[in-house]
Amino acid sequence: MTATAPITQDVHTMPRKLPEGPVNLIGLTRDQLKDALIAAGTPDKQAKMRVNQIWQWLYHWGKRDFADMTNLSKDYRAMLAERFVIELPELVTRKVSTDGTRKYLVRIAGGHEVEVVYIPEEDRGTLCVSSQVGCTLTCSFCHTGTQRLVRNLTAGEIVGQIMLARDDLDEWPEPGQGTGENGPRLLSNIVLMGMGEPLYNFENVRDAMKIAMDGEGIALSRRRITLSTSGVVPEIARTAQEIGCQLAVSFHATTDEVRNKLVPINKRWNIAELLDALREYPKVSNSERITFEYVMLDGVNDTDDDARRLIELIDGIPAKINLIPFNEWPGAPYKRSSNNRIRAFADIIYKAGYASPIRTPRGEDIMAACGQLKSETERARKSRKQVEAEAGL
Ligand code: SAH
Ligand code: SF4
Repeated sequence: MTATAPITQDVHTMPRKLPEGPVNLIGLTRDQLKDALIAAGTPDKQAKMRVNQIWQWLYHWGKRDFADMTNLSKDYRAMLAERFVIELPELVTRKVSTDGTRKYLVRIAGGHEVEVVYIPEEDRGTLCVSSQVGCTLTCSFCHTGTQRLVRNLTAGEIVGQIMLARDDLDEWPEPGQGTGENGPRLLSNIVLMGMGEPLYNFENVRDAMKIAMDGEGIALSRRRITLSTSGVVPEIARTAQEIGCQLAVSFHATTDEVRNKLVPINKRWNIAELLDALREYPKVSNSERITFEYVMLDGVNDTDDDARRLIELIDGIPAKINLIPFNEWPGAPYKRSSNNRIRAFADIIYKAGYASPIRTPRGEDIMAACGQLKSETERARKSRKQVEAEAGL
């Protein structure tokens, strides 16, 4: 598979419906749910109300059993139980880091596994969600990139990660005991920064985020959701229009020569094309700033000249630059820049008027930090030689 080949799998062929079996309600959009209920015999006139009722049970109250849906008649609940299921991916293991970070290993249909990371901070709790099993792209510093893609996640598997984390955090409100909306939320932010390239699984990511944003359910504001892309330029405008969340971009280099090696999708859409798309983004989506992610690799992309070039490149784009100390993984062909180098780099950017936070690696002891995710069960691993060859090292 070449670095830039898009996934040819058509997301619409991903079975939401098992060939003969019942339809899983998790992951259906409101429209799809309505269609499914009508197909199951719900009169057209009632369908909208039923969607609202079921939606709230699933996504506001977190219920998994039709018997709990007490504002529906017994007969209607029996019909639902016959025709539909409420199924989440399966939580296989949970590791808790000394810093409180939780890493979940989650099994999806077909036995594949993805990782989901919960990062508690003082003012927020962020869930790092995966969009694919593995990744077809082969960024040379990324552990996930060494794993062959197995498949796109369905919308239900993506929103299911959020629901599983809320289960684990015990964050569903109890009917009759307040709605849980008053206090700060444990899970308050979502970042699509786990395994996979979200913009190569656009429709499923969009549908899952629409469900997460819906005010009658999980109700996370679009400002609290950040999608990170390596730079799939044609999908960036669509992300603004159809999702409207915050955007982060894995920038990582200031010349095409270096970016081609680090983020090979750059050979398809180069820095200039990427920046053009990013310039349009905040206008279309009303988002405040684009986050530029920049991994600090010793001797590769971390000079003062790089910092200055970066400032020139992003001129005119409302931006914040997130500096990520490289997280090592077994066989990685790079080293993390020294703390002094990272600070000097951050300083140049900060003095030019941009926020330049240095991301503190979280959950390193459980291999939960950025770029360390990779399911241990996926044996089809590329060799170090192959990674280096692809990076042109
Ligand atoms: N595929 C998407 C989202 C997942 S990666 C993307 O590439 O943007 C999330 C972030 O972690 C990206 O910015 C990625 O470049 C960064 N990353 C990957 N491997 C890393 C590593 N080993 N150390 C630090 N950051 C890494
Ligand atoms: Fe895929 Fe993102 Fe890793 Fe690149 S950095 S290989 S796009 S997950």
